[in-house]
Amino acid sequence: MSFELPLLPYAKDALEPVISEKTLEFHHGKHHQAYVTNLNKLLPGSEFENADLETIIKKGRGGIFNNGAQVWNHTFYFESFSPDPKKAPEGKLGALINRDFGSLNQFKGAFEKAAATIFGSGWAWLAMDENEKLTIVQASNADNPLRNGLKPLVTADVWEHAYYLDYQNKRPEYLGGFWNILDWQVIEGRL
Ligand code: MN
Repeated sequence: MSFELPLLPYAKDALEPVISEKTLEFHHGKHHQAYVTNLNKLLPGSEFENADLETIIKKGRGGIFNNGAQVWNHTFYFESFSPDPKKAPEGKLGALINRDFGSLNQFKGAFEKAAATIFGSGWAWLAMDENEKLTIVQASNADNPLRNGLKPLVTADVWEHAYYLDYQNKRPEYLGGFWNILDWQVIEGRL
């Protein structure tokens, strides 16, 4: 079994000015592609040769875990965006966010703070536990809440390659713009 780089569901310049065409060329075309290529090199002969990505994330170790999780994480991240996004969650997800964070704005503030304060490379996640309680997770490197039995709903890539071309060291500015392209229609569909 070998994995392929998924196509972006929008044009490379569609997320400007929040994420530039140049960033997407590198982030999707080079970084995401490299994780796919590296994973495909590591799998033959391993116990995960015929495994799906969720299994690799839950049970993998070392390079297979790192590259497999990064393939999944980036696909999940890129699929979250739209040039014409739904700007707020409704229905069940909207109600869960209000219940667990007080309001959408309070959630956004808590998520931005968590994402801004991850030390080094990683991902901020909104995830849901088995009792449908929402939680914000700070994850280092390739880590993913699936490993802890949580269901991922939203993620922000805070590796420098995600924002450095557009924002240099200003990670909080990238996170502020994140909400202008995050499509809550997609996120509602993940519940
Ligand atoms: Mn990335």
